[in-house]
Amino acid sequence: MPVVPVDPVHPDPAIITDAAVRLRAGELVAFPTETVYGLGANALDAAAVARLYAAKGRPAWNPVIAHVPDHEAARALARAWPAAAERLAQAFWPGPLTLVVAKAAHVPDVATAGLDAVAVRVPAHPVALALLRAAAVPVAAPSANRFTQVSPTTAQHVVRSLGDRVPLVLDGGPCAVGIESTVVDCTGEDVRILRPGMIGRESLQDALAPIGIHVRHGARGTVAHGATQLAPGDVPRAPGMADRHYAPQAEVWLFPAEQREEIVSALNERATGGRPVVALLRTVTLPTPTQVTAMPSEPDTYARVLYAALHDADTAEAGLVLIEAPPEGDAAWDGVRDRLSRAAR
Ligand code: AMP
Ligand code: MG
Repeated sequence: MPVVPVDPVHPDPAIITDAAVRLRAGELVAFPTETVYGLGANALDAAAVARLYAAKGRPAWNPVIAHVPDHEAARALARAWPAAAERLAQAFWPGPLTLVVAKAAHVPDVATAGLDAVAVRVPAHPVALALLRAAAVPVAAPSANRFTQVSPTTAQHVVRSLGDRVPLVLDGGPCAVGIESTVVDCTGEDVRILRPGMIGRESLQDALAPIGIHVRHGARGTVAHGATQLAPGDVPRAPGMADRHYAPQAEVWLFPAEQREEIVSALNERATGGRPVVALLRTVTLPTPTQVTAMPSEPDTYARVLYAALHDADTAEAGLVLIEAPPEGDAAWDGVRDRLSRAAR
């Protein structure tokens, strides 16, 4: 599959035009965004979106995010544009925030998994923005990996996961945010965080306080504390709410620092058939033989390197991955905590 290097700040217009023509023709193109690499397809072309689902092995119930270059293009996909959506778009776009709003009639059902709502985002990455402007169509762009695998934050991760399933990958270097966008539902009286990300509840609430709108965790009709929880029988409104997700191939143990001793004894009991034990640690140490990645102590820098560390565990053919949990109760870690708990399921 051709991987085409592209300057992440000033992308070559000829490369962008070629990629945009492919998207308009219904082809798939993988490209960098500030969150993770996306696998793009023309969101208004039902056949192209179907090819996207097939390439990822993504189940049809899992809707995709339509990426657009500006606010106007986002509003064009919405049947109604609530005050909350307008405030959040003004405050956080372009950036790692996805807004779920009532969908316009011309958005194909395949892109929304049959839901009456569509998810839209204006990404901040210059390559993504240039591509979206040139394509002049909304681009469905879920993470460019096979379903349930770890999302890609480099072009090499895309190639490893999708291989020949994607005809073109624009390589703009590593992603700055590193985990997927915060997804919020703006279709009701309050705003619901469907998927936590690096834009946290507090920042969202600050933007919405002047118009008296509350921000809560969890899909409507579900009870949630902190991270999103899917109740039995609920339709998953956020694909990120699927069970095991963002997961390396090996079994993952997520443990709080206080449980280090238990982990050490459990490790002694646990055979990995000669495959390495990989550990992502922030504060504790573990006895060898363990391949240790020292993880950053701040949530932003942690998020940026997390998926690369999980991909490295896959490359090392780890038999077991140990991850020291983020500090409990600190909301700045909500996005990272959500991804780690899904990886460990
Ligand atoms: P991904 O493409 O895997 O990064 O994730 C797509 C995300 O988009 C999911 O986590 C959902 O939260 C969200 N999403 C897409 N469409 C909708 C929709 N119609 N309603 C609610 N959430 C949606
Ligand atoms: Mg994904």
